[in-house]
Amino acid sequence: MNKPVQIKAQEPPVSLYAKREPVFNRRIDGKFRRIKWAIMALCLAVYWITPWLRWDRGPYAPDQAVLIDLAHRRFYMFGIEIWPHEFYFVAGLLIMAGIGLFLVTSAVGRAWCGYACPQTVWTDLFQHVDRLFDGDRNARFRLYKAPWTASKIARRLAKWSVYLAISFATGGAWIFYFADAPTLHQEFWSGTAAPVAYGTVLVLTLTTFVLGGFMREQVCIYMCPWPRIQTAMLDEKSLIVTYKDWRGEKRGSLKKAQKNPEEYGDCIDCNQCVAVCPTGIDIREGAQIGCITCALCIDACDRVMAETGRPRGLIDYATLEDAENEKAGNAPTRHMKLIWRPRTILYFCVWAAIGLGLLFTLGTRVHTGLTVAKDRNPPYILMSDGSVRNAYTLRLRNMQGRPRDMEIAIEGLPGAVMWTEDMAREAAARSLVRKVAADATQGVRVYVVAPAGSTDQSFDFSVQAVGEPGEADSSQAKFDTPGGE
Ligand code: SF4
Ligand code: SF4
Repeated sequence: MNKPVQIKAQEPPVSLYAKREPVFNRRIDGKFRRIKWAIMALCLAVYWITPWLRWDRGPYAPDQAVLIDLAHRRFYMFGIEIWPHEFYFVAGLLIMAGIGLFLVTSAVGRAWCGYACPQTVWTDLFQHVDRLFDGDRNARFRLYKAPWTASKIARRLAKWSVYLAISFATGGAWIFYFADAPTLHQEFWSGTAAPVAYGTVLVLTLTTFVLGGFMREQVCIYMCPWPRIQTAMLDEKSLIVTYKDWRGEKRGSLKKAQKNPEEYGDCIDCNQCVAVCPTGIDIREGAQIGCITCALCIDACDRVMAETGRPRGLIDYATLEDAENEKAGNAPTRHMKLIWRPRTILYFCVWAAIGLGLLFTLGTRVHTGLTVAKDRNPPYILMSDGSVRNAYTLRLRNMQGRPRDMEIAIEGLPGAVMWTEDMAREAAARSLVRKVAADATQGVRVYVVAPAGSTDQSFDFSVQAVGEPGEADSSQAKFDTPGGE
């Protein structure tokens, strides 16, 4: 008789989804907390005040110091005006911002994440609102666990209303960078602003509300690519928040440590460093992606060390290399010395070189431009006297904040003359002058006629701002004749 086949019970599949553990971080005061306050105030002040700064550009251009004028395709930044064809300046600024982040990361680790990233600033703000409404860590935890009573619902609604107000005031303020701020402000509240303004405020308010109010550290840990990039950029010489395990271990309560000082290290296992952490991690487990290096655990641990009469710095900014040095009994390297090393100097040089290159290009650029488009059909017209006519559309660019006379001329093409639609053919000449409005481009339809017997050839149109040597541009064009292909 065959034996019955034994089927092994299968292991339940491991879930790939980890449920979020909410973070109820405790309030802490200290040096790094105060630095965080100062940077938050500075970031928000710069963000709110910038669109209201004025900058006199004369009667023909807006007087907002920083303005992204999408309607007229201009970007204004104090004395600088970027036209669409100069987008490489914006690309240069973005590259500088990227290299700047490389520089900061290799020098002081994830300082951007810990102090200045908008997600950090908003999360921090919302966590303070939590404390205001629900109390500190333990009270918030109790309320979280409590059933949904009328009082809990009322508190939650009140708190979320404040979240919404903050989201509206911060995310919504972004629209003032895209239009004249005082005018848009007045239009917005009188209900006459463009629908896109209300739509943008709605989207930005809601995204700020959700990302800062509810998703919080999950954005940093799961959504943002920057922590992954930074991890690749950190090396053993980068400053990161470090728990000095050789000093802290073996952990034990103060009582135990007092009884057996030889056996225990400085960490009294009070968990204060975990309690204050905005991302809810335990830095004693080593460097990890959830650590945004906000240094609040340093403040918490320094306070514990002061209270227990031990030297500060059990958790501190340190490099991996320096941590090994200290472990071996050597004195730690000064932070300023750690910041300036070949890698950071190289990043700084590249960053500065791009900045200087941009400044040089900005300082030497001409404010006059010309583009030419030739009529393709017909490519030429044979006139009754045997001469040949080609037609072109020229676009003159006046990048100054005042109207300017510009002289258009033909360079090459022997014997050729030109005229425009608004002048008689008899007045045709090799050059003519057109007035171009301030800060604008102007299309000019030009007919060029060359004597009989001319052949296919290239020539140049040039443009020169009258009375402004150096303010010139040129563009090559083709002249077609019946003899060509
Ligand atoms: S705050 Fe300091 S002493 Fe307390 S658990 Fe953290 S590392 Fe240990
Ligand atoms: S471990 Fe310390 S430095 Fe890192 S996020 Fe938490 S509190 Fe900030």
